Amino acid sequence: MITVNEALDLIRAHFIILSKAKMSLHELEGQVLAQEVRAERDQPPFDRVAMDGIAIKWSEDVRTFPLDGVQRAGEPAKSLKSSIHAIEVMTGAPLPIGTDTVIPYEVIDVRDKNVSLLAGIKVDKLQNIHFKGSDYLRDEIVLSSGEKISSPVVAVLASQGLTEVEVVKYPQIAVISTGDELIDPREGKIKEHQIRRSNPHAIAAELRAAGFPSHKINLFHLKDEKNEMYNAIQNYLNQYDVLILSGGVSKGKFDFIPAVMGDLGVKTHFHTIRQKPGKPMLFGTGTRGQMIFGLPGNPVSALVCLRRYVIEVFREKFIKSKGHCLFAKLAEDIEFRKPMSLFQSIKLSSDAQGTLVATPIVGNGSGDFSSLALSDGFLELPADQNNFVAGQAFPLFLWKGRNL
Ligand code: AMP
Ligand code: MG
Repeated sequence: MITVNEALDLIRAHFIILSKAKMSLHELEGQVLAQEVRAERDQPPFDRVAMDGIAIKWSEDVRTFPLDGVQRAGEPAKSLKSSIHAIEVMTGAPLPIGTDTVIPYEVIDVRDKNVSLLAGIKVDKLQNIHFKGSDYLRDEIVLSSGEKISSPVVAVLASQGLTEVEVVKYPQIAVISTGDELIDPREGKIKEHQIRRSNPHAIAAELRAAGFPSHKINLFHLKDEKNEMYNAIQNYLNQYDVLILSGGVSKGKFDFIPAVMGDLGVKTHFHTIRQKPGKPMLFGTGTRGQMIFGLPGNPVSALVCLRRYVIEVFREKFIKSKGHCLFAKLAEDIEFRKPMSLFQSIKLSSDAQGTLVATPIVGNGSGDFSSLALSDGFLELPADQNNFVAGQAFPLFLWKGRNL
């Protein structure tokens, strides 16, 4: 049995090659940039007035200036008539030639074409000017490949005159549930021995919340029949880059997934991880490099494994980062004596110092997914520790759709 980190490394090592696609500015949010962006020109492109007021040529003791016109934003820089004059200036306008200081309206008095500084106001030379090139210079890298596109990133792209950029292309994913007992949630009549299948819907929801477009995700269901599974999965392997299966990977008599994988020529890189929940998880790659994740059927295990492995490694590869960056402090002591990692579901809050605090949710074992619905995510408690004390910080994984 391998560790959580060994499993992650195996998935990273066998990750599919992601292709690129061009996308236009209005559909970019949530996508991942797959190109570098260099500055079209200096930013700001001219010495830019940063407040509404007047521009002057600074001098130690002059406090009154005759006004000489207005400099609006969007018109070329005017010239100051003489060093004793002032020009009215608006935010965003080019600084008039011959001036070096901007004084806001709030501290001046304008009367009969003359401006005086209010009593006691001190003016610093060069104040309220956003100097040419002070944010970045022409040809400097302003955005790197791997950047997740947020609204500020869209602003930078638009400011560079880009209307189309290259983004990482999301793969086509088949989400496949397995199990004779499972019926569609839309089915009106349900027999006592049947269960409504929730995994494919929950898996698709988490993938969509993580940014995978819904048209790239298709849902399927298979009975625990070996031949039927073989034929169907062979088809999915031809059509999809990523298969996310749930159920049928444990030791039961009808858990056919590991054997079917072998028969289909899928190379299994691991099967079982030292973790709770989700121990029976399987990962393999097809002959074209397709990634196959065999998640345990138990709904808690399926979602935790999806979040910890599938979503996390995709995130790393998309944004080209390695390692996890979010941690939270445990609110209560926990004891877990098994030599396994424990994914502990939690409710998140923050204390008055701004530290994230995770309160464990006591569920009814790994089959209890109704209590998981109350959680914000889970903490990963390492296998080599048995006692986890309140105040200790651990890696935190939040459900992607959770709005905190
Ligand atoms: P399995 O891994 O196939 O042995 O399934 C483990 C447990 O999870 C069984 O109790 C299944 O009924 C349940 N299960 C498997 N798949 C789903 C699903 N899609 N929705 C709800 N429960 C499921
Ligand atoms: Mg099953």
